[in-house]
Amino acid sequence: MTEADAERKMQFLFALRSRGVRDTRVLEAMEKIDRGIFMTGVFAERAYEDMPLPIPCGQTISQPSVVGLMTQALEVTPRDKVLEIGTGSGYQAAILSQLARRVYTVERHRRLTQAAETVFRELGLSNITAITADGSRGYPEQAPFERILVTAAAEDPPGPLLAQMKVGGIMVLPVGQSDAVQHLIKVRRTETGYEYEELRSVRFVPLVEGLGQDERS
Ligand code: SAH
Repeated sequence: MTEADAERKMQFLFALRSRGVRDTRVLEAMEKIDRGIFMTGVFAERAYEDMPLPIPCGQTISQPSVVGLMTQALEVTPRDKVLEIGTGSGYQAAILSQLARRVYTVERHRRLTQAAETVFRELGLSNITAITADGSRGYPEQAPFERILVTAAAEDPPGPLLAQMKVGGIMVLPVGQSDAVQHLIKVRRTETGYEYEELRSVRFVPLVEGLGQDERS
């Protein structure tokens, strides 16, 4: 690593901490996984700025501090099987793979799933399975999950995802309309129902039902 790279990495971690990412395991994972690898073209240079950036299919890679805060709120343990909805670039799934036993990540655009899989292979992240499907239905084949993370906003928590949570499990997701203020919420499934906690306001691309245009034909 050059001196400039080391400096950039320090700034990156400093920005995460100052925005409230304090969990040591999350910070270690974010130090290890290079966000630049998940981006292509002109934007790759800006990978260490705390900003959401464009990726193919008109989608975005989330802001690093939001990735950190969501991951922290998910309280992932090394025993957990985690479901992520909205693979996008694959960056968030790669962070989760450092903390969990196994990660299933679902994306509606096949092109994004395939690009993310290539990076997972390059990095040797063998505990991630990427699936092209409509994630608003969850992933019944592997349910229930200890943890679920949704990185696209729905108006309400999708019923299938609530149903696929284990008792004692946690789901973190943005809710609200795509052109209005959205709230990041944390849901816990208890023996008797669900408890909801509002974390902060956020802005995500919408959760869209069905597969992407390019995969229908
Ligand atoms: N977690 C990503 C950021 C994703 S942006 C990252 O780390 O880069 C949100 C993603 O959710 C987009 O790629 C979008 O295509 C996907 N998405 C939207 N609706 C979906 C659905 N119903 N099922 C699966 N993926 C969906």
